Amino acid sequence: MSEQSKPPKPEEYHVTPAQKTASDATAARVQFGAGIRLTIASEVARLGAARALILTTPGRSDVAKEIAAALGTAAVGTFSKAQMHTPVAVTLEALDYLETCAADCLIAIGGGSTTGLSKALAYRTDLPQIIIPTTYAGSEATPILGQTEGGVKTTLSDPKVLPEVILYDAELVVTLPVALTVTSGLNAMAHAAEALYAPNRNAGSDALAVQGLAAFVKGLPQVLADTTNLRAREGTLRGAWACGTVLGQVGMGLHHKLCHTLGGSFDLPHADTHAIILPHAIAYNARSAAALLAPICELLGGDNAGLALYTFAKSLGAPRALRDLGLKETDLDHATMLATSKPYPNPHPVTAPDIRALLQAAWAGDAPEV
Ligand code: NAD
Repeated sequence: MSEQSKPPKPEEYHVTPAQKTASDATAARVQFGAGIRLTIASEVARLGAARALILTTPGRSDVAKEIAAALGTAAVGTFSKAQMHTPVAVTLEALDYLETCAADCLIAIGGGSTTGLSKALAYRTDLPQIIIPTTYAGSEATPILGQTEGGVKTTLSDPKVLPEVILYDAELVVTLPVALTVTSGLNAMAHAAEALYAPNRNAGSDALAVQGLAAFVKGLPQVLADTTNLRAREGTLRGAWACGTVLGQVGMGLHHKLCHTLGGSFDLPHADTHAIILPHAIAYNARSAAALLAPICELLGGDNAGLALYTFAKSLGAPRALRDLGLKETDLDHATMLATSKPYPNPHPVTAPDIRALLQAAWAGDAPEV
């Protein structure tokens, strides 16, 4: 049997580029495996490319060097200045470098910030992307690009932005610090939790959301018990794929709105903000959508999904108070105004006094109001 006519392995999911639409939101080729990053040369060749630009964040040049060595002459440059929230100025600098290198494909090795830079370049050049995620943020599985310019973060959805290949390598998340392991895992769970009550949810998105949540409920305690447990790390990466994919498929509500506001306007760290807000936003929406959120109670116990998430996050040592991230109490009124100024779909009515109370509890680190 020729290589081409072999059926796909169970771990691979194929969608031809022509089938991609923003709402389909399924990357073309998804592979899992410890050490799979070292197959990078064949992945580049498979795309019909020969000149790869490697992207990462400052301080992660070790992993970029390893990928460059595995690629040999097919590595034509490395750009290590990816930043959180994808500043347009950094993208434009990378674009200049990309043109100088005459790259014909992009390889991002890192968390959501590196993936964001790759997507921003793909948006402007339509070059194919191979993403090697090293956190659980899930951006690699979505056609969504958030960019920041002049202190304002805007988001777009475009099939051009959806990566062609994702390589999930458990060996790379072993170095993820414990604190970021926890907050990044909760960041991923937030995508799945909000998918459960999304207005455009369907049976497929529900199944993916539950799959993603279950992977982290099981995997995060295992990973914390032994951060080098590759089987558990791969379980969490599978959860990241499920949660990221569902984020690309259905609309998000209050939780993502609050995190977008707090991250974009107050420069709070992405994963920590998600970890703190998640129990509060879910408890808020459980007032109107308890039945839809029941899978969370089934996985974690208890009869309120927000409280269950609060207890779970606390047991993992997650941050609980926005004040510990540097947000001032005097910022809460402004944050409330920003988060409630435009209507958006959400299961429980969004009112300024209720959101102000939610933010007060999250700022102080209190348990969510139910
Ligand atoms: P990040 O990519 O900024 O990484 C945080 C820090 O951890 C960085 O310093 C990075 O170098 C380091 N790091 C990453 N992986 C590591 C590892 N395995 N070992 C050691 N250090 C490691 O953080 P993030 O939370 O992954 O991504 C946040 C960004 O992703 C935000 O800009 C957010 O808006 C974006 N995002 C976008 C989407 C989307 O669909 N567009 C989805 C989720 C997140």
